[in-house]
Amino acid sequence: MPYAEVAVDAPIRGTRTFTYSIPPEMTVAPGQMVQVPFGPRMADGVVMRLSEATTIDPVKPIARADELGPVLDPEQLDLAGWISDYYLSPLYDALTLMLPPGSRGRTVTLVLRPDAEALAGVSSALRERILAQFPGRRQRLREDILRRRLGQGDQHSLDRLLRRGTLTRAWLWRRLTSPATLEAVQPGPEPQEGEPPFRTTPEQSHALEEIAAALGARSYKAFLLQGVTGSGKTEVYLQALAACIAGARRGIVLVPEISLTPQTVRQFQARFPGQVAVLHSRLSPSEHRSAWWGITRGQYQVVVGSRSALFAPLRPLGLVVLDEEHEWTYKQHDRDPRYHARTVAQRLAQQVGATVVLGSATPDVAVYHRAALPTTSGRLTLLELPQRIGGHQATPMPLAQVEVVDMRRELREGHRGIFSRRLQRALQETLGRGEQAILFINRRGESGIVQCRDCGHVMRCAGCDVPLTYHSATDRLVCHQCNRRRLPVARCPKCRSPRIRRLGLGTQRVVAELEALHPGVAVLRWDRDVAAGLQAQDGVLERFARGEAQVLVGTQMVTKGLHVPSVTLVGVVLADIGLHLPDFRSSERAFQLLCQVAGRAGRGGVPGTAIIQTYRPDHYAVALAAHQDYGGFYRNEIAFRRRQRLPPFSRMVRLVYAHTNAALAEREAARMGRALRQQQQAWGLEEVELMGPAPAYPLRVRGRYRWHILLRGPGPRLLLDKVEVPDGWVVDVDPISVV
Ligand code: ADP
Ligand code: ZN
Ligand code: ZN
Repeated sequence: MPYAEVAVDAPIRGTRTFTYSIPPEMTVAPGQMVQVPFGPRMADGVVMRLSEATTIDPVKPIARADELGPVLDPEQLDLAGWISDYYLSPLYDALTLMLPPGSRGRTVTLVLRPDAEALAGVSSALRERILAQFPGRRQRLREDILRRRLGQGDQHSLDRLLRRGTLTRAWLWRRLTSPATLEAVQPGPEPQEGEPPFRTTPEQSHALEEIAAALGARSYKAFLLQGVTGSGKTEVYLQALAACIAGARRGIVLVPEISLTPQTVRQFQARFPGQVAVLHSRLSPSEHRSAWWGITRGQYQVVVGSRSALFAPLRPLGLVVLDEEHEWTYKQHDRDPRYHARTVAQRLAQQVGATVVLGSATPDVAVYHRAALPTTSGRLTLLELPQRIGGHQATPMPLAQVEVVDMRRELREGHRGIFSRRLQRALQETLGRGEQAILFINRRGESGIVQCRDCGHVMRCAGCDVPLTYHSATDRLVCHQCNRRRLPVARCPKCRSPRIRRLGLGTQRVVAELEALHPGVAVLRWDRDVAAGLQAQDGVLERFARGEAQVLVGTQMVTKGLHVPSVTLVGVVLADIGLHLPDFRSSERAFQLLCQVAGRAGRGGVPGTAIIQTYRPDHYAVALAAHQDYGGFYRNEIAFRRRQRLPPFSRMVRLVYAHTNAALAEREAARMGRALRQQQQAWGLEEVELMGPAPAYPLRVRGRYRWHILLRGPGPRLLLDKVEVPDGWVVDVDPISVV
């Protein structure tokens, strides 16, 4: 009898599958969705492999097989296996990235109407409550609904009745898609002529020649395309896609969700009319279904989308583009699998012999390092577009004039407000001319970092060189990497000034001071506290773009507002908050943000001004961003990473445990720390550095206390694989940040 190895939808870390027999009347194939008995319940699964024999006895049969047949091809199964193994996530979670929309949770658990006889032994009150849930001739009810209606008090009784068989369950399997959905997939329009390409500049031509050669070779190759905004990267993507399509293959373009605007999409649709599918998280379920099935049926040559569009069923795949490859949103950080689209894109491209193009003005330092290396297996080929394109049609985009204001000096000269005199004057002028301004804090709300207002010195851990943060509950400065603690200082250890204290500034305070300075000015505030959903966020930006307010105040998100042409002033109210987060990537991130600010203020002919306020004007991330000097920044940053053995000179795994009970969270973290240290000694794995457990930053998020442990070294998995990581721990391989 043939057997199937099935990935089951259950919280099991790693690539483990379960063996089931295939009933004689059933045909299943790898890549097909199935429903299988799993413990006392039924569960969704995907067939990974078939086999002729098994040592398992007795083996349970597959309950149902999906009528659509296989929906994943062998390459996708292989990629899901790789993701699950590399990122230590449940195999089924990795498969879900690739399954058709609506595949999650197809199994529905029902409770059948009990007959009066079966309930004979149950107290009459409970019997009444249960039967009341089955009004009229109702025969069955979803278990989750039944539980919700009965309420907390009856859960135990319900469990008991189900265990005894007094109440019985049945399972449904939702259909994945109705025939109507499949019919709704219209055959796309015949490709007409699209918009013609530009005549390329010599730099664009060179980049395109290299990319075309790689496409022609049909073996894996990856490029880093570096060029500031407006240097013609998108045109390179468009012509690379054309070359890919000319070779009878197809292409995926990934764009950060926040940049996936109608204008961006239109650029691709205009060049390839009727051949572009768009995938992102704001699609309605039916839009998503029709795009996905359309792609499966070979209707589109190009897919444009955010992170997860990488898994679109577009075949044969010749090209994957990641625009703004340095953006952190390419890493899925909030659920398993915690994959990075850049890493997975390269793995996928290796599998199918495709070309990868990573584009950025400010590449991730680890990525640039691979392009700068002489030769290694992981090498990237660097292509540069050093200049902005002026000329016809192109909007000339002058760089903003960037000014760095030394807040230490403001203070020395008696100015204690959050706006420097320079920023105040610039605001006055901008508002006076009827133009718009953006005030930007590159981190939300409070930060516990302690900084001297006279010399800019930041208190750091003696062990890890990470900024310490102040915890008022214990009145200590704490290292969020190694948990080293010390007493707060009354005077700056460097300059003896008594003005050394916590750094923190919220958008609310900025709005209040602004209104005090300019009574009656229309201000919009835009941060995560204000904008719960994407919908609300779009609303704020549209209102600002329509001129409903003259000033927009907010965190990272307001950088999207840099596209609004009438914005001529951008003020970074306090660059230091982002600069000194207890995270090894804080300088890199601050540099990227400040570059983006400097690169964008003022468009459409009106030159803009960017004013960066800081207590550390000498910090390399600030000074070099002001000059848009990526090369200079890279050299500083890579030296720091090498010194501190940080990526790309080591690999990291972060373990996070969170619980509403503070003591319990700390205890479990300590237990895990001990278990890891024991194994480290037992196996002599000194090359894996073990940091923590330490409180995460911030310690408390949505009512849960968070502790973390960092593993760092050439192969942190060597150690991690030696311990059992219980449920409740988050395992983050190659974490994008450690706060
Ligand atoms: P990036 O993606 O680097 O921001 P784009 O590709 O969008 O840059 O190019 C910026 C502007 O220059 C766009 O308006 C684009 O249409 C125009 N452009 C790009 N390539 C050329 C070219 N070879 N000749 C003329 N204009 C071009
Ligand atoms: Zn000082
Ligand atoms: Zn430390």
